[in-house]
Amino acid sequence: MSSRIFNFSAGPAMLPTEVMERAQKEFCNYNGVGNGILELSHRGKEFMEVMDRAEANIRSIMNISEDYAVLFLQGGASMQFSMLPMNLMKKGGFAEYADTGMWSTKAIKEAKLFGEVKIIASSKDSKYDRVPTIRHWQPEEDSSYIHITSNNTIYGTQYHDTPEVKAPLVADMSSDIMSRIIDVNKYGMIYAGAQKNLGPSGVTLVIIKKDLLEKSPKDLPSMFNYNTYYSKGSMFNTPPTFSIYMLSLVSDWIIEKGGLKVVEEINDMKSEVLYETIDTSGFYSSPVDPASRSRMNIVMNLPTPELEAKFIKEAGIEGMIGLKGHRAVGGIRASIYNSMPMRGVEQLIDFMTEFEKING
Ligand SMILES: *Cc1c(COP(=O)(O)O)cnc(C)c1O
Repeated sequence: MSSRIFNFSAGPAMLPTEVMERAQKEFCNYNGVGNGILELSHRGKEFMEVMDRAEANIRSIMNISEDYAVLFLQGGASMQFSMLPMNLMKKGGFAEYADTGMWSTKAIKEAKLFGEVKIIASSKDSKYDRVPTIRHWQPEEDSSYIHITSNNTIYGTQYHDTPEVKAPLVADMSSDIMSRIIDVNKYGMIYAGAQKNLGPSGVTLVIIKKDLLEKSPKDLPSMFNYNTYYSKGSMFNTPPTFSIYMLSLVSDWIIEKGGLKVVEEINDMKSEVLYETIDTSGFYSSPVDPASRSRMNIVMNLPTPELEAKFIKEAGIEGMIGLKGHRAVGGIRASIYNSMPMRGVEQLIDFMTEFEKING
């Protein structure tokens, strides 16, 4: 596997090489049955076991109690932007949202189709360079829920503590789920597209408090009602079997590594050395408020856009791809999810140091 390179893309992102190799080994002949998982019925014994293991792994890794349902959906995090208000927005009611950039803006736009949205906090005025504080937020009476984006993939900002709020807290954790220990009990619902930290695209994880399931209107189409997925074990229709299989392998890998405690330590180390390189250089700079810096997506700038383009090109030649910042903000973005090994970050830092010497 020496030809594998380091992919710093924001998503789909690199997967652990061990996981890719295991999937390759099992690709044509899963567990000796003579077919691959891609070819097997979702109601067959083999896939049912994969699905059960994926759920059990997720529950054990995130320490999820029986008060919560763990569901596998499709449509990405983007579908949750509308499915969430469809199910949890009270009729004629409102929900409260923190505006922390593009993904939250998209979530807000969809929610407005189903009720009123109140923006309780925003960092728009400072170009989303931080996450606004929502500590001990007292919701207005009857607030259906409070929505945050825990990690803002594009701007490189992240909530480091779970906001203490008094309405059900809903978080889009697409880009930092299972990157650190969190207390799931503080949330009403968590959702995440899998393709950043959990596996390939095609499956969306939804963790929802069971008592919230009662709030879904009875007249929702089946496929848009969380209760359908809950009552049918996410098997009302054909689930994305291969994506769930890959998620099961990634979750096995997390457990083998020692769980979220170990994963979080490594993620802290990776981001710390990278930020230190930026902060001590005078050549690279971080546009993000230090208290809000993401440990998953490290955004930085060079003195000019021309140097940034050169940096991206030369890094690619050295086997480091996906470093271009999101088109909305430009600059450089190094996405260092769970699967990015420390070696990858060290190689990037070595390259940064060399590049500065030559171009600084
Ligand atoms: C990538 C991303 C999304 C979009 O996910 P899809 O699965 O493509 O719909 C939403 N929210 C955040 C925070 C993301 O990083």
